[in-house]
Amino acid sequence: MGLRPNLLTRRNAGIASTSFALLLGIATVGVLPTATTPTSAPLAAASPVSAEECWQAAGASAKVKVRPGGAVKHDPNALTLAQVHQREAELADLVQEQVKRKGFKTNAAAAASVTIPVVVHVIQRDSTRAGGNIPDSMVTSQINVLNQSFSGGTGGAATAFAFQLQSINRVTNPAWYPIVQGSSAERTMKSSLRVGGKSTLNIYLGELSDDLLGWATFPTRRLSSSDGVVVLSESLPGGTATNYNLGDTGTHEVGHWLNLYHTFQNGCSGSGDNVSDTPAEASPAFQCPTGRDTCSAPGQDPITNFMDYTYDSCMYQFTAGQASRMLTAWNTYRAA
Ligand SMILES: [Zn+2]
Repeated sequence: MGLRPNLLTRRNAGIASTSFALLLGIATVGVLPTATTPTSAPLAAASPVSAEECWQAAGASAKVKVRPGGAVKHDPNALTLAQVHQREAELADLVQEQVKRKGFKTNAAAAASVTIPVVVHVIQRDSTRAGGNIPDSMVTSQINVLNQSFSGGTGGAATAFAFQLQSINRVTNPAWYPIVQGSSAERTMKSSLRVGGKSTLNIYLGELSDDLLGWATFPTRRLSSSDGVVVLSESLPGGTATNYNLGDTGTHEVGHWLNLYHTFQNGCSGSGDNVSDTPAEASPAFQCPTGRDTCSAPGQDPITNFMDYTYDSCMYQFTAGQASRMLTAWNTYRAA
């Protein structure tokens, strides 16, 4: 994918600071974006979040969703503050365990040193395009978008991650079309189709329930059969999901899979998304509201960040802090 039209507005995420952040991410000590996490927070009451998923709403009703002042579909799987505290405390514990067990991993990674194998499951109702039969070229374009996005090639910080398509698995099953978020059919589909270990990215493509663009699982201590990301097939590059068809839903969902929260997580309060260089944001941003600034804390809303809800043409970056957080999560949860 070419450079985004709004590249001139990108923030100045310097190479030096990016490299520094990546190094810190490798060391895993004192680098967690948990510095501001109240690890003493009451955690017992929090419900398990192993199956927590995060979703975006749009698709066919995109015009309704993004209508200024209009009703926006609730995001029922956004994490509560208690759930965030629980996840951050677990991550801190796991990092400490890892440090005791393995010591520093000072030479474990450099930029783009982690290549993630990707298995793409194309769920179809039948052999028609309307029935989910998208061409292989859309899948390979999506992989290219992931590589561009995560390498900093669209204007953001470089992350450690690259993606390599391992296989495309085409499945015709009307019972899984659409993929209904949270359903037993979704669980059956994933447990039937998922391949690989914690480090294998399984992407499920298809028509989705509730006009959703996608959802993803966060990394967990034990690999779940539901691990992976679900993406609306028509959101892939060249798809029919107007304003959401440049492949950034895939980037967004893989961000969750690598432990990123939304930029608007926790609104203006507390530790926000637990990343220090993404300004706080009161609520999701839609379309591309340049200059939006919903919190009194410094910095305008990070509307160009992949972890917001703006149009694909508006979002083009991860930050150095997000790159560090993803690498820490990789070394803690997903590395072989
Ligand atoms: Zn999301």
